[in-house]
Amino acid sequence: MTGSADTLVLWEALAGASPVLAGAALLHAGGEAPSLAAACDLPLAAAAAMALRQLRQRCGDHLDTLAACPSCGARLEVLLPLRQLDEHASALPAASTVGGRTVRSPTTRDVAAALTTDDPDASLRASCVQLDDGVTEHERAALLAVAEDLCGAAALSVRVDCPDCGGSSSVDVDPVALLADQVAMDAAQLLRDVAGLAAAYGWREADILRLSPARRAAYLSMARGRRR
Ligand SMILES: [Zn+2]
Repeated sequence: MTGSADTLVLWEALAGASPVLAGAALLHAGGEAPSLAAACDLPLAAAAAMALRQLRQRCGDHLDTLAACPSCGARLEVLLPLRQLDEHASALPAASTVGGRTVRSPTTRDVAAALTTDDPDASLRASCVQLDDGVTEHERAALLAVAEDLCGAAALSVRVDCPDCGGSSSVDVDPVALLADQVAMDAAQLLRDVAGLAAAYGWREADILRLSPARRAAYLSMARGRRR
């Protein structure tokens, strides 16, 4: 989805979604689910993997970003290894089996429901496990431990060294939010180009978006030359 028209579709989907629903909106816009409701039942890791694939196509295997040092608050430049993160997120299992019982990876619907409870972390773990009356205390603990692993694995992070305080810490990475920022920048540039060409030549948006970036740039520079 890196074509011009696709970029605008993705921008609208991500800009219009609340943070909790952004991953599901991405999966729906990317054709992984027939509706937003169906996308809410897909694993969070699927949205992360799709966001990382999109980021790699737009930015390459590394992305420069800024993060605050968790220890001293200093602004740190972080070079995110998109390829490594993509490989990690793509390899996460959708479910694990413990003693014949299935533990699911958390989905957007699980997170949205957990956020309305007093203990979202515990609620999220519990929603990944099907606990019936036949489960012993020991089995229950084992199932919840696997759920915790699956929930933890879905949260991506990178290690960073802080030159200010000398500390080394782990910074959370939200690939869907990073993609939303990147797509917003790409879309803003596209919309400026469309507005410029439409004003100069009266062309329709769909026709302008079908032009290659090189042709758009050439026509824009001609339009600017004409105005001088
Ligand atoms: Zn620091």
